[in-house]
Amino acid sequence: MIDLSPFPRVPFCHAPTPFEPAWRLAASLGGPRLLIKRDDATGLALGGNKARKLEFLVGEALSLGATTLLTAGGLQSNHVRQTAAAAAKHGLGCKAVLVDRVPNRGLSYTTSGNILLNSVLGAQARCVSAGTDVEASLGAAAEEVRAEGGVPYVIPIGGSTAVGALGYVDCAREILEQAAALGERVGHIVHASGSAGTQAGLVAGLAALSSDVVVHGISVDKSGAALGMRVEELARDTLRLIGSPHQDSALRVRVYDAFVGEAYGQPTKAMWEALTLAARTEGLILDPVYTGKAMAGLVQFVREGVFDSSETVVFLHTGGAPGLFAYAEAFPRT
Ligand SMILES: *Cc1c(COP(=O)(O)O)cnc(C)c1O
Repeated sequence: MIDLSPFPRVPFCHAPTPFEPAWRLAASLGGPRLLIKRDDATGLALGGNKARKLEFLVGEALSLGATTLLTAGGLQSNHVRQTAAAAAKHGLGCKAVLVDRVPNRGLSYTTSGNILLNSVLGAQARCVSAGTDVEASLGAAAEEVRAEGGVPYVIPIGGSTAVGALGYVDCAREILEQAAALGERVGHIVHASGSAGTQAGLVAGLAALSSDVVVHGISVDKSGAALGMRVEELARDTLRLIGSPHQDSALRVRVYDAFVGEAYGQPTKAMWEALTLAARTEGLILDPVYTGKAMAGLVQFVREGVFDSSETVVFLHTGGAPGLFAYAEAFPRT
């Protein structure tokens, strides 16, 4: 049992999200049973994993009397889009720092997808070049809010604090309950890992529930060593926050950086193959930055026989489909 009731929370997620079989995709890979946890269907401005974190982050912001949410991300950040939506829904302002860090993009990248949605949602976004000190920019924006008599609440990139990770502590419980209800023996969860909050929350939640399900985080950015350290540190912070007796036990943190390709946000051939395979076997829409690369990882793991055929594999779909439209020119049409 994990008691999340002491933490302020605003419930805007459509939860539990669906937990669906992907038998055609599983069959085409010739692998074990495969279920998709549909966190692309969390609601909140086209869904995605940040909604779960924002339930707790906005809960804390409101309890502190905040008037404006401040956050940062890439130009096509799903996190910024969902933060802008959460702010609108709670009558808060939203200021975002968008870091322009993906080269070689088409026109859509700077006009469509999440950028378009940020404007629709009324967020005030400021673009800065790669290498800018984001923390300093957020600090300056927080000063502006204070100077105008407001109360800023700063959410770090990806909402990956221990408070944000509580959303994925709860998702771990949800997955185990849904699997039990279906009689599925889940051995593995595979998902895209970026700022580490999703994976840390899952790892902490599963540890707190004494589950031996293994979480495989496919890095979309950092080296495996850097991401692994961040996940472990944040998972321990999260276990401490919930007062779990498991906070000193060994945590199983598995991360893979072989699917990033050239860099964050840069498409890879394996990503496009995995993205089109999911679309054409399951009607499932993935994105080029996160879930497509995570699926490329899953495809390779199944082909290499990493999973035991008796264990069900869960692919956590973390959302991001709005970002696909930003890659309209990059999609390899055949
Ligand atoms: C942010 C994001 C992730 C990564 O989640 P983290 O908690 O930052 O590791 C994965 N998929 C999508 C679609 C995202 O927007």
